[in-house]
Amino acid sequence: MSKIRSGHTKPELIVRRVVRSLGYGYRLHRRDLPGKPDLAFFGRRKAIFVHGCFWHQHADCREGRPPRSNSDYWTPKLQRNVQRDQVNIKALQDAGWQTLVIWECELGSEDQLRDRLGQFLG
Ligand SMILES: [Zn+2]
Repeated sequence: MSKIRSGHTKPELIVRRVVRSLGYGYRLHRRDLPGKPDLAFFGRRKAIFVHGCFWHQHADCREGRPPRSNSDYWTPKLQRNVQRDQVNIKALQDAGWQTLVIWECELGSEDQLRDRLGQFLG
């Protein structure tokens, strides 16, 4: 809950490093794309979001639940984040983009991450 919302969080840096190691170039946080994807691959029309489990309410994840205390504040706020994510991803897909969401809790194994990113981008 003390996590700070930032454009350059550590999970994002991990994903960027793995993508670079695979040899793909990317653009960061392009404002002309819905949701300003963390990584965008214009030639391939592919976009990657790196989502914090709390802020983006990862379903079935330990971190992806609103806090019990102060829930009148948190629940609608987090719900809006989830809805915004859905709208943005749909807008990208409607424009012919493929999207991949990498959750913070999925960054544990870099080998798995490399496989996943390689499959998505390849
Ligand atoms: Zn998670």
